[in-house]
Amino acid sequence: MEKPIAKIQIFGTKEQIELAQKFANDMSSENQASLTELLLSLRQHLRKELNLEPVPKKIKHLRFSNDRIFSHNEHCIQCGEALLKGQDICRFCNPELT
Ligand SMILES: [Zn+2]
Repeated sequence: MEKPIAKIQIFGTKEQIELAQKFANDMSSENQASLTELLLSLRQHLRKELNLEPVPKKIKHLRFSNDRIFSHNEHCIQCGEALLKGQDICRFCNPELT
């Protein structure tokens, strides 16, 4: 995560830089942070630059913790296997979970 955050702070808009810094701060103080706002801002800006049609300001909730992504998937992001609550990858795809 560090490289993209560093790049945003160099090339991002003022808003994106603030959001990236907030993400980095939350990550270091709480070991977790939400990327939702930053992703929304990046998407809007990039789509505009690329002359793509605007999309609704909605994005799947995405939250990073130290070593894994928390989302509200009900199925494994790799194989589609049904998951227990709070997981995003099943134990078959991630043997560390067992
Ligand atoms: Zn799986």
